[in-house]
Amino acid sequence: MSLTVVGSIAFDAVKTPFGARERMLGGAATHFSLAASFFDEVRPVGPVGDDFGPEDWEVLQTRGTITDDVEHVPGGKTFFWAGEYSDNLNERLTHATDLNVFETFEPKLSPAAQDCDVLFLANIQPELQLGVREQCDRARFVAMDSMNFWIDSAREALERTIRSVDCLILNDEELEQLTGRPTTVAAAEELLSWGLRAVVAKQGKYGAALFSEDGFFALPAYPLAEVIDPTGAGDSFAGGFVGYVAAQRDEAIDHDLLARAMAYGTALASYNVEEFGTERVARLTADEVAARVADLQRMTRFDLAPLTLRG
Ligand code: AMP
Repeated sequence: MSLTVVGSIAFDAVKTPFGARERMLGGAATHFSLAASFFDEVRPVGPVGDDFGPEDWEVLQTRGTITDDVEHVPGGKTFFWAGEYSDNLNERLTHATDLNVFETFEPKLSPAAQDCDVLFLANIQPELQLGVREQCDRARFVAMDSMNFWIDSAREALERTIRSVDCLILNDEELEQLTGRPTTVAAAEELLSWGLRAVVAKQGKYGAALFSEDGFFALPAYPLAEVIDPTGAGDSFAGGFVGYVAAQRDEAIDHDLLARAMAYGTALASYNVEEFGTERVARLTADEVAARVADLQRMTRFDLAPLTLRG
């Protein structure tokens, strides 16, 4: 059994109010793999260039992640993204998105990667996501992410890809942009009518909300007094969320299971933002993950005795 993920494997240049990094390992598939590796054997799919060094391979292989489907393109350059956060970290400005080796990449998955039980299509060109989705036709759960860049530039392919998966995990504003609906609830309802089993709305520092045919569930973000670098928080959330689903092999994937998965997503995302890039999650321990999930359980307890109201 394994968990396959396709998405960017990147070098990031990031500036936040707490510092800057000129070039650090990043990419949606990288952050996802690091988080999901707590739950299952992960196989990232994607190309890297000559600049991808031994120390980068080593981080990607954390907790047994199998990199056989990461293709080294001789003479190529790894995907590069540069971004900068506003003082309150609420806004992110993209300075550069250089697809490099992803521009001509055609995913050909190994039999082991195709045979995955669970598949995650992390943020990358929708055509690439669909190409991978079609090769993994026995997966019992397929989830995906995307971003405003692809809603603007590849809407038709994105819609086709969304219609081929079980679960869409997207920022609340992007859900509204994608559907043209004025609220996240209306957007989620519209997307469920496309045939999705679940929609997860990421709400940044406010947490995340789950919509399915069987109901609604929301979790606030884990309360942190200091956030150093939010890059990859969404992918770490997805890694925890989808990883938990993959680990529950014998359970039906219903609303209850997905709600529990939200706690793992929230815990992994909270660790991710404590340091730059992959630094914190690469050395995170299973005990630390469990401790934060237990904290979340305690904090969100809501058990009120009934009260007879006036009127
Ligand atoms: P997140 O903060 O969860 O949105 O993820 C940020 C990560 O996504 C960074 O490590 C970037 O390398 C990667 N990324 C940024 N823009 C893109 C893009 N257009 N396509 C794919 N990956 C991207």
